[in-house]
Amino acid sequence: MPQTTYHFPEGFIWGTATAAHQVEGSNHNNDWAAWENQPGRIHNEDKAGLACDWWNGRWREDLDRAAEAGQTAHRLSVEWSRIQPAPHRWDEDALDRYRAILRGMLDRGIQPMVTLQHFTLPLWLAENGGWENDEIPGLFETFVQRTVTALKQYNTAWITINEPNVVIYSSYIDGLFPPGKKEDIAAAWHAVLNIIRSHALAYHAIHEIQPKAQVGMAHQYHGFIPARKYSPLDALIARVNHQSFNNVFPLALTNGRVRFLHKRTRLPHAAGTQDFFGLNYYTCEMVSFRPAPKNLFQKRWFPPEAEPSPFQFNASYPPGMFTALEWANTCGLPIHITENGIEDSQDDFRRKYLLTHLHQLWQALNHNIPVRSYYHWSLIDNFEWERGWDMQFGLWTFDRETQVRTPRPSAALYAAICQQNAISHELVEAYAPAVLPKLFPGG
Ligand code: BGC
Repeated sequence: MPQTTYHFPEGFIWGTATAAHQVEGSNHNNDWAAWENQPGRIHNEDKAGLACDWWNGRWREDLDRAAEAGQTAHRLSVEWSRIQPAPHRWDEDALDRYRAILRGMLDRGIQPMVTLQHFTLPLWLAENGGWENDEIPGLFETFVQRTVTALKQYNTAWITINEPNVVIYSSYIDGLFPPGKKEDIAAAWHAVLNIIRSHALAYHAIHEIQPKAQVGMAHQYHGFIPARKYSPLDALIARVNHQSFNNVFPLALTNGRVRFLHKRTRLPHAAGTQDFFGLNYYTCEMVSFRPAPKNLFQKRWFPPEAEPSPFQFNASYPPGMFTALEWANTCGLPIHITENGIEDSQDDFRRKYLLTHLHQLWQALNHNIPVRSYYHWSLIDNFEWERGWDMQFGLWTFDRETQVRTPRPSAALYAAICQQNAISHELVEAYAPAVLPKLFPGG
């Protein structure tokens, strides 16, 4: 009997994603390096340290493996504090090194996508208020102009800022990222506006330097499902979360309207400042109203039908991928899945997660949702912010003492998907037979 195969459109782009502070190592001049030195901030008191040692050249071996494994794209970020180590100092050697990396990617047949700011800020800027400093939009614009001018020969796909919604919640509501403020809505609002202003200036600056550039943001979508179907309060809290976490940045960048919790304003110059929609999807949660201001009046947990990862930071909820794509599509732009993946050092869970989420992506494509690429998070285990080194998202793992890399089975699974541009019955049977009934219900 012929077996079904899920084919992806011709030219669909398969890649992986990383971020500077998480893989480069030896970054000592940013707010995260300072944060890692404060006791109690990072799980196990871990530090990024040498990380995957990309700064000393190990990007070569990792990207060799990525290319051999059929990947044709990679999303990486540049580190602002290296390029502008002090307000009036620019480091040409750092830019040279990024040029070498991007050239190395092209030599390997890997098309780059560059994120200009992925969570870290230069220490000099963080010490002066970071995103709450009203000079940051102009400072970011100058940094972007300098960086894009230096790298434009090798790259046309730019993400200005990674997951600004995560930055807002983690830095000003949950207190997990620097500057560690808790439920400080005034500071969060201030930062929201400065991030939007920074993005808008950067968007226009990039297009001026490189008219054919494609510029976007990477937005994290997190599903909020009202816990009690008939509770108007659960519905309300889910809606507020969706508005304030998921919608705040994409809407501002579409129509210039900014809405965050009870705050409202307009930033008209931000309207129409995305050429594509960058979507990061990991998981969904149930949400119910709680009559206490702590945790912004809510309780959250994973949906009963979702399978928590062995680490329980994320849960596998594949329909959320479809919902996320439908939501992203409301902006009417081409979509790039700029991150998706799961923490799993044993890799059994990851294989199931990968296949079931790509199956949802395939379904979205068949609903004519214009997804152009998929970047798996991540190519290799890396420094997971406040969760340190125990949480492992890599297709490859590595020994932090020796820097020796080892592929997980998912690396071969993903390679087969990239090379075949498809998910076949045989592949699922070989790598994750447990999901056969979900992907091929007929047998
Ligand atoms: C971030 C990555 C992070 C990943 C997994 C995303 O929110 O952009 O930097 O490593 O999630 O936690």
